[in-house]
Amino acid sequence: MRKQVNSNLSTDRPTFTSHLECSETGEHYPADFLHGLSEVGKPLLVRYDLNNIKLKLTKSALKNRPNGMWRYREFLPLRNTSNIVSLGEPTTPLISLSNCARELGVGQILVKDESRLPTGSFKARGLSLAVSMAKELGVSRMAIPTNGNAGAALAAYATRCGIESFVFCPEDTPDVNVREISLQGAKVWKVNGLINDCGKIVADGKSQMNWFDTSTLKEPYRIEGKKTMGLELAEQLGWRLPDAIFYPTGGGTGLIGMWKAFSELMDIGWLDSRKPKMVCVQASGCAPIVKAWNEGADRAQPWSSAKTIASGIRVPVALGDFLVLRALRESDGYAISAPDEEIVSAQIEVSNRDGFLMGPEGATTFAALRRAVFEGRVGNNDQVVLFNCGTALKYEMPEVKNFIDLTKSINYAEFLSS
Ligand SMILES: *Cc1c(COP(=O)(O)O)cnc(C)c1O
Repeated sequence: MRKQVNSNLSTDRPTFTSHLECSETGEHYPADFLHGLSEVGKPLLVRYDLNNIKLKLTKSALKNRPNGMWRYREFLPLRNTSNIVSLGEPTTPLISLSNCARELGVGQILVKDESRLPTGSFKARGLSLAVSMAKELGVSRMAIPTNGNAGAALAAYATRCGIESFVFCPEDTPDVNVREISLQGAKVWKVNGLINDCGKIVADGKSQMNWFDTSTLKEPYRIEGKKTMGLELAEQLGWRLPDAIFYPTGGGTGLIGMWKAFSELMDIGWLDSRKPKMVCVQASGCAPIVKAWNEGADRAQPWSSAKTIASGIRVPVALGDFLVLRALRESDGYAISAPDEEIVSAQIEVSNRDGFLMGPEGATTFAALRRAVFEGRVGNNDQVVLFNCGTALKYEMPEVKNFIDLTKSINYAEFLSS
């Protein structure tokens, strides 16, 4: 889809977007148009006039700005700040798991806690940006396939600026997700298939429904929103990146986006050339990218009968597979998976030792870290960053049966053993 709409485009600040680029062929596309995939069906990446950013922006100027993703606006494609659709995205904290680190023999484990974003997941970053761009470019209807969190974020941001939204989820998506999507103003359907089947409904309905396809990587702006995780992490760590970043990978937008952020920051000289190892983490029940990595392939094969409790990373086919694999190679990183039993035990270990409740996808990164340490891939002085991308509270948790019957006398000694 390529249609120029100028109504909301007038600029209120210097703008740095130079063009968009096909991630496979490098072919250029003009900025300020509505874009889907490139001519060869690959994701488009936004490119900036980095020299100009280097001249106009300083690290100290950044210090005085409000927290949150929009403080990095020079690195983002929006032209007019009045088009920002925001729900108060915070700068997410880095939480140290010091007890777990001691136990595992790792220098430092920091969790970037993305569960604090609006709608309870980092999908808010991507969709705040994608919806803001859609508003700027005059879109009135958007559609998305989702395992839950992306749909919730689209619903919230689209409703906020008067854009209609249509959301399609796999049948077994937890009710809490479907209900929050509906409450936040979207029209939502369960589908008896997986996320790629939902994606086909969105793609096939485009001409009849005249909606904008907001699927992962099928439009170029969600990735720029998720890129702000990388910008934020670099700034929080004093413009020095950690030794390794463990990322729970579904479509891969966040990993690709962070790697893009680091390379832009290196280009303007804000980071030294020390790169973190990017580690793609998947659940063993749906690990197409890990399989491709282990086989030395450039592309992943679709994963059949995908099954894991970490539903946010249950993505059997990823359009950006080759970009994730490219980032792993360029960063000297790797891909690693962990089975559901280890995801559950990781969640228990982190919450029991450090009082931090990770969602299943975040817990997958801790399970993978345990494996990586065991395999000697993480050194005992390493600083490692894990991503907790969504709140644990949207998922089923282990049942608790303790009950006090007031018709009987209370036996306090029993409290100690429950
Ligand atoms: C979407 C999602 C992921 C995966 O994100 P990608 O960047 O698309 O790979 C991980 N965790 C949670 C909680 C998610 O909602």
